[in-house]
Amino acid sequence: MRRMKREKKLTKRERKALKPGPKPPAGHDHQHIHCISCGRHIDAPEFSAPIPKAQYITCDHGSRFPSCTSCMAGSQALIDEHERTGQQVNAAPAFH
Ligand SMILES: [Zn+2]
Ligand SMILES: [Zn+2]
Ligand SMILES: [Zn+2]
Repeated sequence: MRRMKREKKLTKRERKALKPGPKPPAGHDHQHIHCISCGRHIDAPEFSAPIPKAQYITCDHGSRFPSCTSCMAGSQALIDEHERTGQQVNAAPAFH
């Protein structure tokens, strides 16, 4: 019977190659939506609630940007700026 010597002793490089790569965190494949004005995390159902707590603003280019309903004035100003300058929307840093 032949002995498979090479299978027993892996080099460091070979061992590294066997390691699984980074996996996406389980159960976290939903979309991350954040208000562009305040950065608050928005849950998708907030858009369709009887009294919506969030809504999308569509810019001249047809892109949709999420915003709290209470942040609409500020968010609209950001979109106006974006449309005027053609720069990326100067969104607030996201937080949870
Ligand atoms: Zn988030
Ligand atoms: Zn907001
Ligand atoms: Zn745009």
